[in-house]
Amino acid sequence: MDEQNNKDGRDGYENICAMCHRPESVCGKLFHLPPNLNLCENCLQKSFDLMSSTIDTGDPNHLMGNLKIIVPGGQNPNPTKLKPKKKEAEAAQDDAMAGDVMDIAKLPSPHEIKARLDEYVIGQDHAKKVISVAVYNHYKRVRRQDEEAFKDDVVIEKSNMLMLGPTGCGKTYLVQTLARLLNVPLAITDATSLTEAGYIGDDVESVLSKLLANADNDVERAEHGIVFIDEIDKIAKKKNTTSRDVSGESVQQGLLKLLEGADVEVPVGASSKNGMVPTTMVNTRNILFICGGAFPGLDEIIKTRLTKSFTMGFNSYLKDEFDEDRDILSKATMEDLREFGMVPEFIGRLPIIYALRGLDREAMKRILTEPKNAIIKQYQKLFAMDEVQLKFTDDALDLIAEKAIAKETGARALRSILEEFMLDIMYEIPKDSYIGTVTITADYINGNGSPIIEMRS
Ligand code: ADP
Repeated sequence: MDEQNNKDGRDGYENICAMCHRPESVCGKLFHLPPNLNLCENCLQKSFDLMSSTIDTGDPNHLMGNLKIIVPGGQNPNPTKLKPKKKEAEAAQDDAMAGDVMDIAKLPSPHEIKARLDEYVIGQDHAKKVISVAVYNHYKRVRRQDEEAFKDDVVIEKSNMLMLGPTGCGKTYLVQTLARLLNVPLAITDATSLTEAGYIGDDVESVLSKLLANADNDVERAEHGIVFIDEIDKIAKKKNTTSRDVSGESVQQGLLKLLEGADVEVPVGASSKNGMVPTTMVNTRNILFICGGAFPGLDEIIKTRLTKSFTMGFNSYLKDEFDEDRDILSKATMEDLREFGMVPEFIGRLPIIYALRGLDREAMKRILTEPKNAIIKQYQKLFAMDEVQLKFTDDALDLIAEKAIAKETGARALRSILEEFMLDIMYEIPKDSYIGTVTITADYINGNGSPIIEMRS
């Protein structure tokens, strides 16, 4: 009991690192080494470094030097310096106060989740609806699984997802916002950086290392987190290749067991396993995996399939019928994705497939001004600190949106475009403390004039 108390710090005081003697609130999450030792990340790393230098010098005394190890349950070096641990409920409340997070324990319903997403993500209504329902079902399933009474009941399958959509339309942003609102740890990784184990690049387990790090090395929290794997289309099976496809099909194969749910040995604080890196076990059964990609060329595959199946009979479609269809990706089927190069077993483990639309001018304009943390609101806040009001005319917003569309990188372009126009203004305005209002006009964006400046009356 005593040992358990000390391991979890439930004796009312924080645990301390056995080597540097600092409490957990100062040195960060402690690693518990059996049978009865807690070490902070720094000291753990130091001891590995010392060990390797001992091997180099051959001097065993070099290893421990004059380190004094404190074993939990032994004497506390200075009890008055240690902060009593916050009760769990108090800590949770603090977290909830920190931002506008929802309480996942209360399992917010899909419409509540979507309403909160609406405050940040513009458009993409279908995607927001699908993700809200999927997340609701996922955490309902997790909760049900945790309850003893349902252990032998109907097994509800995991709702891993695949998001299709052009670059910059909000795939990553949607997942980031969701994780932040639900206060669950999130790891975002790029599928292009992954390779088959043993080859240069990150092993697939590295996605779980990131998740664990983002959950402050709390395995239990990580096991309920979200992993977002971006650019998943880049690991499609390479066509016409005779060499081993270590960054394509093999990565899909490697990800299968993570998506399905397995106990995985995860390196702590590194992207691949080796003898010197500590590892821990993470079960992926309750981790929600969301994959995203632009899938260039998939639209052609869909169009070909659709025109092939509809070119006969009275209701036949013309070949270019779908050329203008901006929503073509939402018609993707498993077959299309298989033809694109995704392995059927991989797609089979992502049962929820949906598409996000490319952003049009109206959506871009709304992204500039409407979300809770809209870029323009951020600039206005900065100016307000100097007691200057910042305004944009409607046609100026139109022009910025048009310029962003021309760059073909989605909403990502908005910030860089604005940054370019705001630089001079942000440089000049603080020079004159009598300036009260700055209005950005279409002429200024077009390079035909300067913003309208009004003095404080
Ligand atoms: P991708 O689809 O390539 O993952 P991102 O989600 O990274 O694109 O989008 C880039 C940035 O553009 C985001 O950080 C966000 O600020 C903005 N953005 C994109 N789409 C939206 C949207 N629908 N609503 C609000 N902001 C958006």
